[in-house]
This record gives sequence, structure tokens and C-alpha cells, in this order.
Amino acid sequence: MTTGVGTHEDLRAALRRIDGRGYKAYQDLRGTYRFPGGWELSIDHVQGDPFAAPSRIRARVPAGQAGFPPELWQTRTRRVALCDYVARTAARVIRQMARGRRGSGSSGRIAVDEPGQQVLERTAVVIGPECAELRLSVGLPAQGRRVLGRAAEEMLLEELPRIAAAALYYRALDPHRVRAHVELAEDQEFIRGQLRARGLVAFVGDGAILPRESGVSDRPMDAQRAVPFETPPELAVEFAVPHRGVVRGMGIPAGVTLIAGGGYHGKTTLLRALAFGVYNHVAGDGREWVITDADAVKIRAEDGRRVEGVDISPFINRLPMGRDTRRFSSDDASGSTSQAANIVEALEMGCRVLLIDEDTSATNFMIRDARMQALVAREKEPITPFIDRVRQLYVEHGVSSVLVVGGAGDYLDVADTVIIMDEYRPRDATAVARRIAREYPSGRQPEAAGPFGPVRSRVPLPQTVDPRRSGKPRARHRGVDEIAFGYEDIDLRHIEQIVHPSQTAAIAAALVYLAERVLDGKISIREAVKRVMAAIDENGLDVISPFQGHPGDYARPRPHEVAAALNRLRTLKVRGG
Ligand code: ADP
Ligand code: MG
Repeated sequence: MTTGVGTHEDLRAALRRIDGRGYKAYQDLRGTYRFPGGWELSIDHVQGDPFAAPSRIRARVPAGQAGFPPELWQTRTRRVALCDYVARTAARVIRQMARGRRGSGSSGRIAVDEPGQQVLERTAVVIGPECAELRLSVGLPAQGRRVLGRAAEEMLLEELPRIAAAALYYRALDPHRVRAHVELAEDQEFIRGQLRARGLVAFVGDGAILPRESGVSDRPMDAQRAVPFETPPELAVEFAVPHRGVVRGMGIPAGVTLIAGGGYHGKTTLLRALAFGVYNHVAGDGREWVITDADAVKIRAEDGRRVEGVDISPFINRLPMGRDTRRFSSDDASGSTSQAANIVEALEMGCRVLLIDEDTSATNFMIRDARMQALVAREKEPITPFIDRVRQLYVEHGVSSVLVVGGAGDYLDVADTVIIMDEYRPRDATAVARRIAREYPSGRQPEAAGPFGPVRSRVPLPQTVDPRRSGKPRARHRGVDEIAFGYEDIDLRHIEQIVHPSQTAAIAAALVYLAERVLDGKISIREAVKRVMAAIDENGLDVISPFQGHPGDYARPRPHEVAAALNRLRTLKVRGG
């Protein structure tokens, strides 16, 4: 890559020189250009043609001029929130100047990786002791395959400076809003950090708006229609957070919690809000004060998924044809075996809370009632249902469960806490549920033969995690739900806690990093993913990028979702330790 430094006038001259020439002439622009005011534009990667992935550029302002007060970026939580704010600002400015197409392919497009409702660590903006940097992708404009120098001049010499001026200088931002954004994230993180010490797995603040606008939107349902969250007095807790003061809401205690209630009364909506409560949310989202243990994992049935060498024997044993369930592999798992594997894999990664909704569970995995026990002998049923393991998971492994159960009343026997959703209002029904459990015995026999037992770590065989395609590593994401990894496609449709396509992009890159730099035939999945996370902590999210130029579109995934992707790679083989 060229790293020549010129001025913005050199860039202008270059653009005039190549105007009308073949698209390849844009390659000459690579390098760094100093603009008036002292900020710099780096053109890192130039697309091969107007239809290729856009070019990658950076606008960089020296810290002294950018002027962000160090207290806004010195801790990780603050820095992440500040960078998020700047990325949102840049996205807004870009939207405001949006105009029509400027030629073929991606011509004229300027884009920043725009955050959604969550505040995630991203590569789009980097703010630190040296500079404030914004990473953009641009479609260098063409008419057919000819350079449109004039249009490029407008983009790079007029629009880009306006974006930089509006987003990369602290003085251009509203200091109160910046601070509020950073402090909100810090308050949220504070509560998350306190949950365990307070014996809780989640917190839902008074007045939270849990329902979303629609099934395809992550934005809040409008205030006219949404019923705000009301804390049941028995479950009320308070947190004295650093900035907002005292925040009151419902604490969900560790242990086994049921969310019961009639159909359409808001059970699934509450559980989904808890699933996303592992992330911080922006003000106005409605879930700002929905905070969940960072290691909570949403579990569901996922028939058809691939499973490799997972010990699902606590749940499933004595399969027909004597298949071994202590090292269970399948190219097409059933509802119950997939749900069992999802749980065991989550445990293997250090999950602390299982979030399970009956709507997306295999019924026979969740329950076998007294009548079914009478009809089908224990020896003929391979499944030990979750109801017989859920307490062991808590007692032996300290793993709590929050379960949406509207139908299977037998679960009242195993619950520590029962919440009823009643017209979107939660009610504590723990005492009533206890009484009912006593008065109406379920008559079922517990089916767990012994303890849940230890969870084994699996060691991936490196040659089975191969990102190469025609010799070169290649991993791409398609939207949120799919990764093309070498010759394989990884299906992430049922990994519900990925919230942004940029997380999927980062998972794809993390898998390549794992394959090329971490897996050695000895390291376990958990340790391997930990190592990637440690590298990111140390060197920033850029570290997993294989790209020429900056990876301006990564958002940090959790270790759980990185492992989930690896676990769904159809070629994966493991050695079971
Ligand atoms: P359940 O799982 O109990 O059947 P859902 O959570 O699926 O119910 O909710 C049913 C419908 O009610 C959904 O369309 C959802 O958007 C809406 N809804 C959920 N919570 C609220 C609320 N607090 N205020 C208004 N509508 C809500
Ligand atoms: Mg439901």
C-alpha cells in the first residue's frame, strides 16, 4: 500500500488528472492527504471497479484538535459509548446530505457502519490518546467504468470534510448529549456488574417499554400503544447507579424462574427483552434499564443443525441403534437433540443463565407428564426432560434458568420464582404457585438417574476449520444470519442474540483468526474463543481484520456467539477431552 502524504490540493489535482480515465486510475489515489485544519484523509483500499465492495477511507483528526476530554474515553465502557455516539452523528450527517445516484455501481455512496438500538464496541470510530478517527466506505464514482473525477471531488473534498467537521470534533457535538450517552452506558454497565453480587440474573426497570414496533423492527412500540413495565412489589429492587441516581425495577433472582400467563399477555416479549439485556441500549429505546447477566444465553430447538461431539447424555440417552450420546454428532439434529446440544454448548462456554421460551422449544425436551410416563416406560424414552435437570443445573453448576411456560404446570414444582404476565403487567405469583403445586400434585416421577455431571471441553481439530477457498482465506457475512466460511455456509438464523450484521462480520473474521492463529489441536473451544477476546481487549477489534485497509464494519460479538458459529460449521471435528 502506498503511504505517500500529500495535501488536499494534491488530491484535487489527482482527481482532475484521472477524470474520464479507466476506473483502475483510482488506484493512484491510495495514500494520505492533509486537509486545512490539520486533519487527514487516508485512502486505504480502492475498489477494483464500481460494482466491487466499496473503497475504504479514514478521516483522522489529531487528538489535540479533536478535543475529546480524556474522561470520556479513558475507560472501556465510556470509550465504546463515545465512539458509538460519534458513529451515530456521522451516520446522521451522511443521511442528511444523501442525494441521488452518481453513476454506476456504488458510485457516490458514503457510508459509516451505523449502530442500531444497542451500544456496541465497533471499528467504525476510534478515539484515543493520539487521534479521533472515522472509518467510512465510499463508492468512488464512475460513468460506466470511467472515473467521474468531478463527482469524486465533491465527495472527498466537500462532503467528507463536512462529515469530519460535524462528527470528529468535540466542539461540534452537544456536550450534554454526549455526556448523557456515555453516562447511560456506564450506569447500565454498573447494574450488570452488580447483578451477581445481588443474587440476581436480570433487572427490568420501572416504565421500560419492552415490545417492539414490529416483528422486523428493533425500535420501540409507540408510546400510545405500549404498556410500560410495572414492577411487582415483591420483586422490587433498587440500584444506586453512578449518574442517574436510584433506579428501581424488578429483580429476577438467581435460580429457576418461570414466566407464566395467558397467551398474548407479553411473556415472549419479556424474555426477548431479557435476551437483549446482555447489551447496553440507547436512550429512548425503552430497554435502557433492562439489564441481564452478560453470560445469559437464549436457548431454543434448532432442528436440522449440525452437532459435533457434544455430550448430550444428561438429556438424551439410549438412542435407538445404540448411538452414543456422550459424543453426539449429527448433520441433522432433531428438535430435542438440537436443544440439548445448544444447552450443553452454552454451558461449555461458561453460560450463567439459560433463557428458554416454550414457543421455540421441543415439547418432549421440556416435559414428560405423569400420563406419558405411565404410557411409555422410562426405558423406552431416551429423553430426560429439562424439568428434571433444571434444578441440578442451578445446584451443581450455578446456572440459572428463566423459562416461559404457559402450558406445562408441572414446572411449578421446580420454580423458585413465578411471574405471571397479565395484560403486559407482571405479577409475583410465587406463593400461589407453591400452594397450587402442593394442592395439585403432578404425579410425575423425577427421571434424572444421577447428577447432571461435569461439562466436557471439546478441542477442535484445526484442519477441520478451514477458511480457505481456492487457497485463500475467505469469510464473509450475509446480513445477520449467515456466514460464508471457505466453502461452507454457517447458518446463524437461530442465534437470537446477534443484533447487528457487523457482529456477524466480526464473527466471520474471528473464525478466520481462530483458524489461522489459535487452533492448534490442543486448545479447547472455550479457551480459543477467550484468546480471541483477549487479543481484541488488548489491541482493539481491528486485530481480527484480514482486510487491506481498516475493517470499518465490525461490531464486537460475545464469546457465546463466536462459539455458536464455530459449533455450526458443518466440517468441524473435535477431540473430546
Ligand atoms: P405471549 O408470549 O405471552 O403469547 P407476546 O410476548 O408474544 O405474548 O406478546 C403478544 C403481543 O403483545 C405482541 O404483538 C407484542 O408486541 C404485544 N406486547 C407485548 N408486550 C406489550 C406491552 N407491554 N404493551 C403493548 N403490547 C405488548
Ligand atoms: Mg409467546
